[in-house]
This record gives sequence, structure tokens and C-alpha cells, in this order.
Amino acid sequence: MSDDQSQNRFGFVALIGEPNAGKSTLLNNIMGTKVSIVSPKAQTTRTRVLGVAIEGNAQIVFVDTPGIFEASKKNKMERAIVASAWEGIADAEIVILLVDVSKKIGHSTELILERLKQDGHNKRFILALNKIDRIKRDALLDISAKLNDAYNFDATFMLSALKGNGVNDLVKYLSENVPQGIWHYPEDHLTDMPMRLMAAEITREKLFKLIHQEVPYGLTVETQKWDSFDDGSIKIDQTIFINREAHKKIILGKGGSMIKKIGSQARHEMEQILETTIHLKLFVKVSEGWMDDEDHYDMWGLNPNA
Ligand code: GDP
Ligand code: MG
Repeated sequence: MSDDQSQNRFGFVALIGEPNAGKSTLLNNIMGTKVSIVSPKAQTTRTRVLGVAIEGNAQIVFVDTPGIFEASKKNKMERAIVASAWEGIADAEIVILLVDVSKKIGHSTELILERLKQDGHNKRFILALNKIDRIKRDALLDISAKLNDAYNFDATFMLSALKGNGVNDLVKYLSENVPQGIWHYPEDHLTDMPMRLMAAEITREKLFKLIHQEVPYGLTVETQKWDSFDDGSIKIDQTIFINREAHKKIILGKGGSMIKKIGSQARHEMEQILETTIHLKLFVKVSEGWMDDEDHYDMWGLNPNA
């Protein structure tokens, strides 16, 4: 950090785009550490995660929104997710619309463009074309022209979030375009996701990774207990909530082999991040209709009445 705070920059950057556009991958690439779940399945990012990057004299706070998709009126959880996503945009000085160029432009991206047009012009809107490793240059230029026709973006970047192409240019641009201002986070700050939530995310990611075939979408993980001991070790109890009894067998595996594997991988990653010994205990609980149970929303920072 420069001693002269007046030279510093600080700002919020919202990453928006359809599920699977590569938001988490991009954020992880920028941060160089895992702060958000990456999964080939859509809608695994349910919470709003902040990552704080430092580039030159700028501190950039990334808001990784859950995928913006049309909310079904029936589903409280979806409404809460969409409301939370737009909150992320409202806070931001720069909005990055991430588009997967290997796919046809989706309806959600069109909705996002419409929504951006309605928004006041006190922010910069950046177009980031992602997955350029999967498409030919001509096709890429076509998509770029088309989207720039649809909306007058302040800048366009072409990226492979997976391989890292173009990511440095994007970060440099952000660092030069967030407003001047004092830094709000300590320099070693990586994420403001509470540790309990981070631990639950880790276990959820292992679940998704290890049982991807039969993965129950109606699944959530909560950290119930967090005890720190004098020797620095931490004891964590977590409950995996499922909405169907049949899923229990899949998660437990033969003779409990699957849950052991999930627990061991999750514990290993927690130990790496927290740099201490972790005792992890996992419970599986069938709780039908948990998606309508408001207790579970508080945990994610979502407003159930959205
Ligand atoms: P999110 O839903 O927007 O957060 O998307 P993710 O970051 O979870 O990415 C969805 C999938 O796309 C994952 O399988 C990623 O590995 C993949 N992906 C992300 N960026 C790229 C990229 O630049 N190139 C390729 N080929 N795949 C990517
Ligand atoms: Mg994601």
C-alpha cells in the first residue's frame, strides 16, 4: 500500500452472467485462492461471496453473484437468489458481464442487457467474453460486435478464465478504473465469507464433486458447531440436509465409505486454509421442504421475503 492514501483506489466490481459462464473460475483465477465454488453444474453458487484483490495501488472488491436467471414465482429460494444478485450490482462501481462464447447467447443474458439499460449510468459496464479457448477467432469477433451493438459497453475483454488468458489485462483495467479512495480491507484479507460458511461451502463442493452423477440439487450443508481448542485445533460439526430419504444411501455410500471420503477431503482442505488440525463430523439429515424453511436463509445472507 502506498503511504500516501490519496493515491489509492478502492471499488466494488460485480461479476454477473449466466450460470456456468465462468464467474467462479475467473474470480478464483484473479484471487489465486479458492473463495467460491466451481462446479460444472449450474447454480451451485448460492451465496454472495466477496473476494478482495490488490493490484498496484488499487483494492478491488469482487462480488460474485449467483447466476441471474428468471425467478419462478413459486420458489422462494430462487427469488431470494435473484434479489441478492441485483443487490450486488447496486453496490458496484463496475459491472462485468461475463458471457460464455462457446454457447448461444442465452435468454438470461438478454434479460441482463435489458436490466443494464434501465440502470442509472453511474457505473461502468464491461463485457468479458469468456471461454475463448473454445471458439474460432472470427466467431468470437462476431459475438463481440453483436453484443456491443446491443449495449454500449465501456470496454470489452476476451478471456479464458480457465487458462488465464486476458485476465491480467482485465485486472489492470479494473485497478485503473475503480474510484480513488482509501482501502477498506486489511492487506491480507482474502474473503469476508464467515469461516463457518466457508467450511460448509467446502463440504458442499466435495459432495458435488464426489457424487456428481446422482447429485441431489435439494441439498445444503450447515456448520452447526465450531469449537476452538487451546492447542489451536478446531472441532467442526456439520449437517448435510437432503430432501429425500433415498439420497441418504448415496451420500453415505457402501458401509459409510462415501461420507468418509467426503469428510476426509473436506477436512483436508479446511486444514490447508485454516492451517490447523480440524476434527470434522458430518451428519446427514432428511428435512423435507427445507427450501421453504426460513432458518436456512439467514445462514446464506439471503432475504427470504424478497
Ligand atoms: P459460474 O457458474 O459462472 O460460476 O461458472 P464456473 O466458474 O463454475 O464455470 C462453469 C464451468 O465452465 C466449469 O466447468 C469451468 O471449468 C468452465 N470454464 C470456466 N471458464 C472457462 C474457460 O475459460 N474455458 C473453458 N474451456 N472452460 C471454462
Ligand atoms: Mg459460480
